[in-house]
Amino acid sequence: MQGHTGDVDVETVRMNDGRTGGAIQGVRKTALAGLSIEALTDALKPLPAFRAKQIFRWLTRGVRSFNDMTDISYMVREALDKRFSLYSSVISRRLSDADGTVKLQLTLEDGCVIESVLLSDDEGRKTACLSTQAGCAMGCVFCKTGAIGFRRNLSTAEIIEQFLHLISMGAIANVVIMGMGEPLLNLNALREALSFITGELGFSKRRVTLSTSGIAAGIRDLADNGPGVRLAVSLTTADEPLRERLMPVTRTNPLPLLKETLIYYQRKHSKRITLETVLLRHINTSHKDAELVARFADDLDVAINVIPWNPVAGMRFEGAALGEPDRAEVERFIAALQKKGLNVTKRFKKGRGVAGACGQLG
Ligand code: SF4
Repeated sequence: MQGHTGDVDVETVRMNDGRTGGAIQGVRKTALAGLSIEALTDALKPLPAFRAKQIFRWLTRGVRSFNDMTDISYMVREALDKRFSLYSSVISRRLSDADGTVKLQLTLEDGCVIESVLLSDDEGRKTACLSTQAGCAMGCVFCKTGAIGFRRNLSTAEIIEQFLHLISMGAIANVVIMGMGEPLLNLNALREALSFITGELGFSKRRVTLSTSGIAAGIRDLADNGPGVRLAVSLTTADEPLRERLMPVTRTNPLPLLKETLIYYQRKHSKRITLETVLLRHINTSHKDAELVARFADDLDVAINVIPWNPVAGMRFEGAALGEPDRAEVERFIAALQKKGLNVTKRFKKGRGVAGACGQLG
């Protein structure tokens, strides 16, 4: 655990069926979360269709157990519990930070572990941060998920379940696809999950942001085939040789190609894009670095989101320990961008006490 320590409350959660995370045993039951009403109706046969509607309504509220479905008789709940589970994943650990952030560690059916985070802003609005892969193959040097490597893509249901687990902890105002993994390398499953979240669950697309390390083919696919959610690109630096070393994705997706693709995306969607820059002490924070970012932003309608690196122990870049930039370094960088007329925001440091901040998952 990194950063400030905060008041951290760690809890291993026992599920309604007695399982605890990491120890999934016994017969596998069909999980109901993430099924459309039609699919749920089919799965529940011979129960009548109105039961599917009742159960669906409970699931969208993030209910934890069949027993909580109070408008269904005890006998039916018992029968349901024998045949089905609510989720295929188990909350194996829940960590709460004093700043309102909650990080869930979910153990999937095959034992893979992923993380999802619920961030809370100063007004109490909640943002759900979802993962799309177990681990990540992209190898960004400043990211803990990158350091653990790639395990597998998540299924549509596993992405939806994260949203449903988080909704049980409060109303969600925004969704960011910024957890573990590169979303554009699991776009089909993500697309279906988002279609469920924004369709069946009625969540507005305008309140969903997908963040990519900059995979041009995926951005083009998004531009052509949707979904029309907000796009964020983790740029980090516009110094091409440096970016190649910090984010290996640059070797196959060079910055000119990335920029050309973003212009294409913007022509189709005319939506403002967010360029995220993770600031690493003395690495990408100079005046020249800011100028290169501003030059990259030319011809694009963008907001720049500056993210001072969230420390993760033991992470190194070319032999030296990575460091968090100091306040003056961050402010100088922001001022240089603003001088170029750019709209700059700084990401709050929520979640550091539970290692749930950007780049700390894994
Ligand atoms: S920053 Fe994102 S794309 Fe890069 S390694 Fe981490 S999870 Fe993967």
